[in-house]
Amino acid sequence: MNFWKKCVLALILLIATFVIYLFLSIRSLEIEQVSEDIHVIRGVGGNTTILNTDAGTVVVDSMTFKMQGALIREKAEELTGKEVVLLINTHYHLDHTHGNPGFNPGIQVVSTERTLSHLKALDADFWEEDAAKLLPNETFSDRHQFNLGNKTVTLIHPGRGHTDGDLVVVFEEDKTLVTGDLFFNKHYPNIDLEAGGSVSAWTNTIDEVLSLEFDKVIPGHGATTDRNSLVGFQNMMRQLWTIASDAIDQNEQLTLEQFLDQHGAKLDSDIEYHPIKFAGISIGLDRTFVLTRAWQERTKNFELKN
Ligand SMILES: [Zn+2]
Repeated sequence: MNFWKKCVLALILLIATFVIYLFLSIRSLEIEQVSEDIHVIRGVGGNTTILNTDAGTVVVDSMTFKMQGALIREKAEELTGKEVVLLINTHYHLDHTHGNPGFNPGIQVVSTERTLSHLKALDADFWEEDAAKLLPNETFSDRHQFNLGNKTVTLIHPGRGHTDGDLVVVFEEDKTLVTGDLFFNKHYPNIDLEAGGSVSAWTNTIDEVLSLEFDKVIPGHGATTDRNSLVGFQNMMRQLWTIASDAIDQNEQLTLEQFLDQHGAKLDSDIEYHPIKFAGISIGLDRTFVLTRAWQERTKNFELKN
């Protein structure tokens, strides 16, 4: 075999290995039992939460791929012994919604009105034909409650932050909060300014969340935790906004490069925070990203998309 043939063969092997790795990663789901009736499923794309009720199974978020959605449904029904009756989407991002088509059409799918609007406006190509059957079929703007046998499930839109349509879920009897991406535990958050997200509003939004009654906290990304970690995250978002806001107050002409250079190091409440990685590679949600988004919001250097 000549040199070039060997190279091509090596490349094919490399690509095949990566495809298999990707396929296995997507299919691998890790299960954590949080309490008697609550499980968290972790996989590529973050956290999914399962609640067992007398009236059936509740699922919060569906990850990134239809195949993951189908596996989540299977695992959820295995864990509870009951069919999924309610699927909740905390916001419109694909890593929380593209698994929806893996569920049975006809089940109740709930989100805020803004989330449904974002799905249709910003992700229209995906939500066509069969996928459209698993779009949210019930929406609300501020607050919504389900009584499912022995469980009360409260959904609240606490305000803008990650987008302008996020909801949080409280499993009342279990005193457990599911935050979606309004809280990244020990990871730098995505800040979707184009979908109404806001660093400046995020602190008050978390105050709204903290006024709810709960002990355990299941974030959109990262480990299950408690109120204290949520407060720590709020402190980081508050400091981030103060840094950007003060810098531009002092000099309205400050460019992004100057801002990062002269003010970036002031952010010190993120000591325990890390970029989210896939296959060892950062997906861009890092310190520079959050500083950039704060500068963009403060200087209005972005465009609302919906
Ligand atoms: Zn998100």
